[in-house]
Amino acid sequence: MGSFEYDHDQKVSAIVENQMERFLIREGASDKQNQNENKEDMKIVKSTGNKRKYVEDYLKYGFIPSVNDPSLPFCLICQKTLSNETMVPSKLLRHIETNHREQMNNPISYFENIRSSF
Ligand SMILES: [Zn+2]
Repeated sequence: MGSFEYDHDQKVSAIVENQMERFLIREGASDKQNQNENKEDMKIVKSTGNKRKYVEDYLKYGFIPSVNDPSLPFCLICQKTLSNETMVPSKLLRHIETNHREQMNNPISYFENIRSSF
């Protein structure tokens, strides 16, 4: 009888150990998964949280950073503040093309002069 109980205990502890191992493995796996999810979150925050910044180069298109919000482009020609989404060369150029086609070939000094008068 005594030896049977001993065996039984051995078996039980073996099963428990086995389950613990599986539990630990699963924990490790879900940890990795969580880390990946966190990374994904950070990516999303980074792509939507970061505003486009004004680049001095945009002056050649006729834009300066808005006085009220430097993250917004301000058109020197029509003196309008555009959205932050417009803060890319292609869209700034598009604004000039569609609204100020006749001013497209202005030298950068032309815009520098306007800017200095602000
Ligand atoms: Zn304009």
